[in-house]
Amino acid sequence: MPENRRILEWISLKDAPNGVIPNSDEIFAVLQEIQKLQECTGVARGRPQELRNIEWLIIEWRGSRDREEFYLDPATISSLEKFSVLPRWHIDGKDPVEYPSAALKAQTPAMWKEGTSSVMDSKPLSKDSMQSTWRTAPRSEWNISHYLLDALNAHPIDLNKEIPVHGKDEKVPYMPQWYLQRWVLFYSALPLLLHETYMALTGRTIGPITAFNFYFFAFNAIVIYQVHILRRLGHKYGFLDGDKHARDGVPDVGVAKVVASLYKTTGSRLILSIILSYNKTQRPSQMSWIWLPLEIGLYGIVLDFWFYWYHRLMHDVSYLWKYHRTHHLTKHPNPLLAAYADHEQEFFDMVGVPMMTYFSLKLVGLPMGFYEWWICHEYVAFAEVFGHSGLRMHSGVPSTLGWLLQMFNAEIVIEDHDLHHRKGWRKSYNYGKQTRLWDRIFGTCMERIESAEGNVDYENTAKMPLF
Ligand SMILES: [Zn+2]
Ligand SMILES: [Zn+2]
Repeated sequence: MPENRRILEWISLKDAPNGVIPNSDEIFAVLQEIQKLQECTGVARGRPQELRNIEWLIIEWRGSRDREEFYLDPATISSLEKFSVLPRWHIDGKDPVEYPSAALKAQTPAMWKEGTSSVMDSKPLSKDSMQSTWRTAPRSEWNISHYLLDALNAHPIDLNKEIPVHGKDEKVPYMPQWYLQRWVLFYSALPLLLHETYMALTGRTIGPITAFNFYFFAFNAIVIYQVHILRRLGHKYGFLDGDKHARDGVPDVGVAKVVASLYKTTGSRLILSIILSYNKTQRPSQMSWIWLPLEIGLYGIVLDFWFYWYHRLMHDVSYLWKYHRTHHLTKHPNPLLAAYADHEQEFFDMVGVPMMTYFSLKLVGLPMGFYEWWICHEYVAFAEVFGHSGLRMHSGVPSTLGWLLQMFNAEIVIEDHDLHHRKGWRKSYNYGKQTRLWDRIFGTCMERIESAEGNVDYENTAKMPLF
């Protein structure tokens, strides 16, 4: 029922056919229409008589496990109510009459107006819109964030290149861990080597502010380059759930937010490590080499413990959900949406969780010097971006303790967090982002679909090129 799914997505306030979001009464009317169709059950939680006080909606599809839950907080409702124009129900080039909303349309013809397709139109988009049309909009309407993303060529896909589409039961290529480790170690070593060479040649030290700027630049350059490589892989291997839905782009309403999330995440984590661990007289070559492999592995696992609980609480505690819902507007994320979130979430993600991890490791006696921490950050950031790539491959995230996690079937793969976005709304599964360990222990693992054990091709492996 692909058409019905489209309507469902429209209700989810995502991918509206022309980006115009209807007001809450219309959502409710369409929900009733869908119920009439008997294709699904729509459940309204909250006070169904009065949609204004509704908190969330659940829609379950008959005969399938698909279930969608939509949280409507007062801010969302009031932002919806600014819009009186409904979108066209002309979906996928078919006659609108085929769709359940046709009846609604017949009843209230005056309310149905032709929508517009350009983001740059005068009508404001809801802050929750996931419509992404800015890349093909006239450049005269771009601002600095649009130009920056474009200049960095930090696009999740190339609009002119094809993306292979695979069915769910086609085998998914396996990517060996080794490719990821090699990638992260190579790129995290580059700034360390430069730093070392500078100190060796000049005999000078680098102060904390210069160090901050240097590593800040390096971190961002590495992330952007990772996005380039992942894009290439996407055009080669395709994306998960690609037979049903395209990957989301960077939303028109979120271009500046995406750019800001990049430098805010990088900047705040680095400031934290510089304050807590930078010692300008120490050279990169003097880091604790012996402890490094253990620190890298434990950092991911311990960070994931704190992340697991912080993340799970935001899903489970009603009061906290509002801080996490923005991150969940995307059901088919891309690497640039890894840090797409509200300020409160950003703060904990960027500062709170890494700080807890640092102190936990210090507490057990690990040295956690600046340079080791830098490498740990690189591993974790790689995994965060990789986990939002949706690449159609069976691949874990880099970790020096990946072998140990594998023994307990606790290694995370790309599909795990992808399913967290696709299926998870308030009550969810797969809360971990670096491992599946805590999901295993606390019983919140979700069954894999394309990455299910029998569906992985271990012979024709995928590769992560260095350049
Ligand atoms: Zn979540
Ligand atoms: Zn996510």
